[in-house]
Amino acid sequence: MAFVQSPPELGNQYTDDRALRGLLAQALPPDVLGEIEGSLLEMGELAGGDLYRLQLADRCNEPKLIQWDAWGNRIDRIEVSPLWRAAERIAAERGLVAIAYEQRHDRYSRLHQFALAYLFSPSADVYGCPLAMTDGAARVLLGSGNEDLIQRAVPHLTTRDANAFWTSGQWMTEATGGSDVGLTATVASRDGDAWRLTGRKWFTSAIASQMALTLARPEGNPAGGKGLALFYVETRDARGRPNRILVNRLKDKLGTRKVPTAELELVGTPARLVQGTADGIRNIAPLLNITRTWNSIYAVSLMRRGLALARDYSRRRIAFGASLADKPLHADTLAGLEAEFQAALHLTFFVVELLGRAESGQLSDQQSKLLRVMTPVAKLTTAKQAVAVLSEAIESFGGAGYVEDTGMPLLLRDAQVLPIWEGTTNVLALDTLRALGAEGALPALRREAGFALQAVREPSLLRASALAEKSLERAEAWLALTSRSGEAAVEAGARRLALSLGRGFALALLTQHAQWALDRGDTRPAAAARRFADSGVDLAGDRDPADARVLAG
Ligand SMILES: Cc1cc2nc3c(=O)[nH]c(=O)nc-3n(C[C@H](O)[C@H](O)[C@H](O)COP(=O)(O)OP(=O)(O)OC[C@H]3O[C@@H](n4cnc5c(N)ncnc54)[C@H](O)[C@@H]3O)c2cc1C
Repeated sequence: MAFVQSPPELGNQYTDDRALRGLLAQALPPDVLGEIEGSLLEMGELAGGDLYRLQLADRCNEPKLIQWDAWGNRIDRIEVSPLWRAAERIAAERGLVAIAYEQRHDRYSRLHQFALAYLFSPSADVYGCPLAMTDGAARVLLGSGNEDLIQRAVPHLTTRDANAFWTSGQWMTEATGGSDVGLTATVASRDGDAWRLTGRKWFTSAIASQMALTLARPEGNPAGGKGLALFYVETRDARGRPNRILVNRLKDKLGTRKVPTAELELVGTPARLVQGTADGIRNIAPLLNITRTWNSIYAVSLMRRGLALARDYSRRRIAFGASLADKPLHADTLAGLEAEFQAALHLTFFVVELLGRAESGQLSDQQSKLLRVMTPVAKLTTAKQAVAVLSEAIESFGGAGYVEDTGMPLLLRDAQVLPIWEGTTNVLALDTLRALGAEGALPALRREAGFALQAVREPSLLRASALAEKSLERAEAWLALTSRSGEAAVEAGARRLALSLGRGFALALLTQHAQWALDRGDTRPAAAARRFADSGVDLAGDRDPADARVLAG
């Protein structure tokens, strides 16, 4: 008989995830954890069982755009994959958006919601993308004070009834620019009390959604970002026909292939103003804070999935007379990935915790500064980690990792979108600079890290603790020193600064959790903290901007 390698398997993705369970045990009061744990166990079972099997079976299905019906009517209908249809029902019924708005657990509601989203996401082929935008749209509409739209849309966005559930798109990017959205060319013209939009939207994901929030320039408004207004659009009319929206084509993408991402033409699309006739970029910002947090969650969830599969495989695969798990170098490689993952997990859930506080009115001034700066920092840091970790996870399978029907290549392709959408690494690094300048957040960040690390007393953690504090101190010193050389020098180093803040603060969070876990007999987070401390935390460094100009030319 020819040799046949047994494939990797997944168990209950909540039970198996010691890092998540440790984090929740520290972050949640025991009664809250007791109340939500049943839902986490169920989602963990689904994500490692039926949904994962469906995902593997669904591999070759992709969304289809049907532009015409048999009689020549333009219908622009999108047929999503069977897995997406299942994911929509699961997401609605399990409250993956609703939980945040039901607020059953007050400031812990976001932790509950995002822990579920984290378990669900890697088995759901990026269905988290429409959920993120739906969550963000609900947040924007609720904050807009527009009672008509709140009553019209929010009950659909936040329901647990799968038949009434709506998802929302977010149409910002145009061919002129996704980063510089001030270049938006879509025009809004008055039509009685309503508006009509004319223009092209260049990247619109989850185009099967029932509604979207989008930017357009009311006629007569000035050029630039301030002249844009935020609009609400329903994608279908009362008879289910496209609402004067043409879907020109679905993008042919490297990854996220289950997500129908379209190029749209708005041809007098009926729309309603959400909030005022200008300042659309400012008004849509709360949506971006939510989608960026979903992005961080998706990044850590993909890392965790890659590791779960790689670890299981390392126990099954034999090379040179022993399992890979027993080979010191293979074990060391996986340990490095585990440390990255655990650091990312703590960084992400720190933001989630603050978001929960913000939405339940329990955010101090200092925490408000931290939330503002750490939302983009966590997004950009974890997105980069995810691409690196997934690339290594694939290599840990050898050739099998490169073969499509193992399901592994998908993880890397999907991870590669994480540093691009919702703001690229550079764009978010510049946003971090703005947040640091406006909010004075660096001293707050250092104080928070110092506070977290106060309890660390285990000798083997003291180095990690000191390094975390030192890296944040050096980041602050770098900013002060480089500012003297002018704006261009600071801008050139913004990415390194933001990554230093992300990695340095993640190390602080992981180290304080490691002490907490050691006190309860769990040595894994301490091992992860020590390992992460040696993985390049302080990146700000001293670079000559002139070198960058020479090398880029
Ligand atoms: C799969 C997918 C789905 C998407 N879905 C949506 C969607 O649903 N809705 C939506 O609105 N958008 C969507 N996008 C678009 C996405 O948000 C944009 O692609 C992204 O914001 C970057 O914009 P851009 O493509 O125009 O690149 P550009 O803005 O042209 O950027 C090109 C490069 O320049 C860099 N850069 C730009 N400005 C600066 C600067 N000032 N300093 C330094 N570097 C800079 C960027 O970091 C980037 O590396 C999607 C994209 C993808 C890939």
